[in-house]
Amino acid sequence: MKYVDEYRDHELAKTIAGAIATEADPEKSYHFMEFCGGHTHAIFRYGVQDLIPQNVHFVHGPGCPVCVLPISRLDDAVELAERHGVILCTYGDMMRVPGTKQRSLIRAKADGADVRMVYSTLDALKIARENPERQVVFFAIGFETTTPPTAVAIKTAQAEGFKNFSVFCNHVLTPAAISHILESPEVRELGIVKIDGFLGPSHVSSVIGSQPYEFFAEEFQKPVVIAGFEPLDVMQSVLMLIRQVNEDRHEVENEYTRVVTEEGNLKAQALVSEVFELRKTFDWRGLGTVPYSALRIRDAYADFDAEKRFELSVKASREVKSCECPSILRGVKKPTDCKLFGTVCTPQNPIGTCMVSSEGACAAYWTYGRFREPKPLDAAE
Ligand code: SF4
Repeated sequence: MKYVDEYRDHELAKTIAGAIATEADPEKSYHFMEFCGGHTHAIFRYGVQDLIPQNVHFVHGPGCPVCVLPISRLDDAVELAERHGVILCTYGDMMRVPGTKQRSLIRAKADGADVRMVYSTLDALKIARENPERQVVFFAIGFETTTPPTAVAIKTAQAEGFKNFSVFCNHVLTPAAISHILESPEVRELGIVKIDGFLGPSHVSSVIGSQPYEFFAEEFQKPVVIAGFEPLDVMQSVLMLIRQVNEDRHEVENEYTRVVTEEGNLKAQALVSEVFELRKTFDWRGLGTVPYSALRIRDAYADFDAEKRFELSVKASREVKSCECPSILRGVKKPTDCKLFGTVCTPQNPIGTCMVSSEGACAAYWTYGRFREPKPLDAAE
C-alpha cells in the first residue's frame, strides 16, 4: 500500500538502525519524549526500541486525548446521560474509561442511559436530526486534530437551526501541554524527567503546522522533529534528533513532510478560531491545571454549548489512588512501574485511562506482548 509499505521496509530499517548506532555517542544518553500516543504504539508495535542503542530512551508523553481528560469531565458526561436524559454521543474509546467509583459510560448505558458510540460528528448530527424530540449531546474530546470536525458540526447545527444538539467541549491544545511539561519542576529543577528532544505529533501538526513548536525549541533549547506514525518515520526522526543533540542544535525539523507544512491547514485553523476561544485554565489528568491549554465554545455559538444548556452539578470526583496514569502522563513513570499493570489492570479490566485508550501507554505495553509476565500482586493491593 502506497505511503505504508515503503515506511515499513525492513532493509531500510536496518540502514537507519545502522546510522543511529553509528551516530549515537556511547558516552551520552539520549532521552526523547514522544508526545503522541500514536508514536508510543508505533514504537511498541514495530519493536523500534529493540533497533536502537540502549542509551537512546523513549519518554512517553501525555498526547493521548482520552488519557488526559480529567475524571471530573467524564463524570459530567455520565451525569448528562443519566440525570439529564440526553442521547450522549461519544467516540468509542471514551465508553470504557472508568470515572469516579469505576462508573463508566458503558456502565451507564447498561443501566439504561442512552449512550451511543459514533465515528464522526456527522453521526451525532444525524442522530439529532432523527430524534427531534430528544436532546443530543456530542462529547467532544481530543487535540487539534479532532477540533475542526467539531467546529463543522456546530456550524452545521446553527445553519440548519437545530434546537436539540449541543457539544460538551473538552478540546485541548498541544503546545501549551509541551510548555507545561518543560516548565515542570520534575524537568527543570529536580531532573526526574530527562528530555533532550521531542518527537513532534503527526496529525496535530498537519493542522497547526510546524511553526508553533519554534517557541519552545528556542525558549527551552530542545530540538523538535515532527515525525510520521510509521516505524521508519519514527526511526528517521530519532536519527535527526540524535544529530541535533550531537551538534548542540535545538531546531524544529519536519520529518513528516508528506503531510505537514510550516503553516499547517489554514482553513481548519480559521474554522476553529471562528467557533472556539481559549479557556483561561483547564485541568488535565496528570498535568494538573494548565493555563490557556483548552478551548471553549464562543458566545456566538452558545446555543450549542452543553455546559450552558445543562446545569452540571459539582462532584467530588476521585481518581483510583494506586493507578499511576498521572505520573505516566508526565513521563515520571512507565506502565511497568504500576503495581496494577497486567495483574488487576488489563485491557479487559482497565483501571485507568492509559489502559483503555488505543493510544494509551499502558495499552501499548500490554497489547504488543512485551511485558506480559504478570507480576505478583502486592499484599497491600
Ligand atoms: S496499568 Fe492500569 S492502573 Fe496502572 S497506570 Fe496503567 S491504567 Fe493505571
